[in-house]
Amino acid sequence: MADSSGGLVIGEREGTGAEGVRRCARHPSVETVVSCGRCDRPVCPRCMIFTPVGVRCPSCAQLRRLPQYVLTPRVYARVIPGALLLALGIGFLLSFAYPGLGFLGGIVVGYLVGTGLRRVSGYKQGREIEIVAGATVVLTVLASSMFYVVRAGGRLDAALRFAVSGQSLGVNVLGIVAGVYIAVQRLR
Ligand SMILES: [Zn+2]
Ligand SMILES: [Zn+2]
Repeated sequence: MADSSGGLVIGEREGTGAEGVRRCARHPSVETVVSCGRCDRPVCPRCMIFTPVGVRCPSCAQLRRLPQYVLTPRVYARVIPGALLLALGIGFLLSFAYPGLGFLGGIVVGYLVGTGLRRVSGYKQGREIEIVAGATVVLTVLASSMFYVVRAGGRLDAALRFAVSGQSLGVNVLGIVAGVYIAVQRLR
């Protein structure tokens, strides 16, 4: 990212007053006492980005998004079908154990989903893949309820309605919580 005001910033720094007031690197008309924790460029409130490691300027905050945290469209093109296959496959196996995914069942589902997504995503980490993992665990549980009804001779639309019913979700809530937790841990 080009920084045309670079020279200006250094000039301002030399002229820094006793109060430590400097001018924002991107908005020279705005005075600020805050600077980027990485490159020390002054940042005004509009430019400040709060990260887990402190205040960063927009350029340094961008650098922090390391490749293993970024899910590109190409990665999503692998992850979404992979997540659906995991949900359907594990859900089908789970339907033999239905009704009710207990705490232990949730741990098993979370482990399988987390491990599967780790592989399929190419060992991605971060918020995005964790959200995908949580959604996959929920889908897996819904799929298990659906397959249970279908295997018992129910029609598909009735099976889908049952899967998202309060009754189905109620007996599975503990398993979902445990599963999401374990799946997210597997991705860290
Ligand atoms: Zn910076
Ligand atoms: Zn600014």
